[in-house]
Amino acid sequence: HADVAMYHVKERGRNDILFFDKAINEQAEARAQLEDNLKTAINTQQLFMVYQPRFNISGTEILSAEALIRWKHPEQGFISPGDFIPLAESCGLIVELGRWVLMQACQAAQEWNENTGQNTPVSVNLSARQLHDSSLLIDIENALNQTGLDPSLLELEITETMVIQDMETVISRLEAIRTIGVRLSVDDFGTGYSSLIYLKRLPVSTVKIDKSFIDDVPGSSGSENLVKAVISMSHSLALNVVAEGVETEAQLSFLTENHCDEIQGYLLAKPDSAETLQRLMRK
Ligand code: C2E
Ligand code: MG
Ligand code: MG
Ligand code: MG
Repeated sequence: HADVAMYHVKERGRNDILFFDKAINEQAEARAQLEDNLKTAINTQQLFMVYQPRFNISGTEILSAEALIRWKHPEQGFISPGDFIPLAESCGLIVELGRWVLMQACQAAQEWNENTGQNTPVSVNLSARQLHDSSLLIDIENALNQTGLDPSLLELEITETMVIQDMETVISRLEAIRTIGVRLSVDDFGTGYSSLIYLKRLPVSTVKIDKSFIDDVPGSSGSENLVKAVISMSHSLALNVVAEGVETEAQLSFLTENHCDEIQGYLLAKPDSAETLQRLMRK
């Protein structure tokens, strides 16, 4: 901060520095506060998981469900994972949190499959730090062993941006995960490098097209072309394609016409408790 503040001394003058220092302090305080709150949340059961089903393209069958974390703060109410996951990531809490998420998700999937007699996989989002942590494979094996979930019923979602750094190490780690029978998917596809090279090199079986592109179809020719290209590119690599954030019938028609394999979104189901999902599976 000192360097930046000095820059301001030279360039702008004293009032600007005071303002700047105050802003930085407030930001740092808010961050420290949130970090403290998150530690408490982990220890006091303010965190819980919800599950959002993924359907076949006709919407008649639940093929799997994505585990999504929720934080209900006693005073502040719901805090979005989009806000606290990056924070947990930067302060290192994510490894512990991610371990807990894996265990919860495997437990839930084991239960719903026992209760329904179906074999519906669960998918879990990984964070960059987890992927770069050498304990990941052990954490996964522990979660599977302790819950009894079959490895083929676990899928892990990664993003392309996570693998850029230290790519060789990450790929060999992913291959080890794949070897025990756990599947992998690429999340938020289209927002990162979206390159064939990555898709071809990563041991993944599924590509999830980011909601921001689905939002714009049909209508925007840019997004329409991107979605079509991702579908045909993925199919040429024998990958399964999921559209994320499907909210309208028009989107669904577009995706059906263009041979998308699976859909996830509010049109068919919002994220909800494992019990609610289980009821939905029975129908
Ligand atoms: P994501 O993995 O891409 O998850 C999809 C997000 O889109 C979820 O938001 C889901 O609730 C939302 N969504 C699904 N369908 C629709 C729809 O039709 N309309 C709209 N408006 N939204 C839809 P959520 O649960 O807020 O999670 C946001 C992001 O936070 C996730 O994006 C994921 O990157 C991260 N995240 C959530 N749970 C976890 C977790 O347990 N671990 C890690 N590492 N990250 C997580
Ligand atoms: Mg995801
Ligand atoms: Mg996504
Ligand atoms: Mg994401």
